[in-house]
Amino acid sequence: MTDTFDVIVVGAGHAGSEAAAAAANLGSSTLLITMDLFTTAKMSCNPAMGGIAKGQIIREIDAMGGYTGIITDQTSIQFRMLNLSKGPAMWSPRAQSDRVKFSVKWREALEKTNNLHFWQDTVNELIIEKDIIKGVKTKLGVKFYAEAVILTNGTFLNGLMHVGNNKIKGGRDSENASYGLSEQLIKYDIPVLRMKTGTPARLDGRTIDFNKLKEQKGDEHMGKFSFLPNIVNHLKQRSCYIAYTNTKTHETLK
Ligand SMILES: Cc1cc2nc3c(=O)[nH]c(=O)nc-3n(C[C@H](O)[C@H](O)[C@H](O)COP(=O)(O)OP(=O)(O)OC[C@H]3O[C@@H](n4cnc5c(N)ncnc54)[C@H](O)[C@@H]3O)c2cc1C
Repeated sequence: MTDTFDVIVVGAGHAGSEAAAAAANLGSSTLLITMDLFTTAKMSCNPAMGGIAKGQIIREIDAMGGYTGIITDQTSIQFRMLNLSKGPAMWSPRAQSDRVKFSVKWREALEKTNNLHFWQDTVNELIIEKDIIKGVKTKLGVKFYAEAVILTNGTFLNGLMHVGNNKIKGGRDSENASYGLSEQLIKYDIPVLRMKTGTPARLDGRTIDFNKLKEQKGDEHMGKFSFLPNIVNHLKQRSCYIAYTNTKTHETLK
């Protein structure tokens, strides 16, 4: 394996997987470096793709040859066009996907992409010479060089998780945070901010009395994101179930 590429992408989340596929499909020799290849394009939270303002982006990515729409269609277990009671400008496609199959399909798609190479490791340093990025150095001490380096680290840079009153260092549940890059970016006067995301508690489905919840089925005529025809999906379609909080729940939370 060579140590020099046209493009290096750091982090195989949703953004990095799409960036690596785009670079490779445009003919650039591309290296995708990620902490754990088994979490390729992992869905962090609610396994939903699209929704208000985001559904349109998935269709734009699809129009430009990206994979997100195709893989969402292949793995969706519920599709709904949101806001149908409002005007067409407000309609928003949203799918719930099987989160495990979504990640597996992404890895398969990337492995079938020409010009794309993989390295499982953590990047903790950019190689910079005379203010120009030349490559990256990894935790294992390996150096890779490229004309361009794309950072798609998601929630991992100096990540901090708050669970109740506990603060735990990490990128995502059970996954390490990434250190070194933020400090280096700050040194080069690139503003670094930490954005906040939140997620609901995970419940064991076997402990829920679904009869007490409001069922929300998917659309009768299942929609899709990709403009490509013939995308196959044989997965069983599922309902969502809605629960409402009340003042008693709020008291418990307090
Ligand atoms: C608990 C939780 C709940 C969330 N809920 C939502 C939600 O409901 N809706 C929503 O839109 N977003 C939510 N998010 C945000 C979510 O992170 C993004 O939607 C989406 O996953 C971001 O994609 P990404 O590709 O930017 O990064 P990520 O999916 O975070 O992927 C980053 C990838 O980079 C890798 N990586 C990071 N640093 C390095 C490094 N130095 N070297 C090598 N590899 C590295 C990681 O291993 C990971 O594979 C949530 C995030 C979390 C953690």
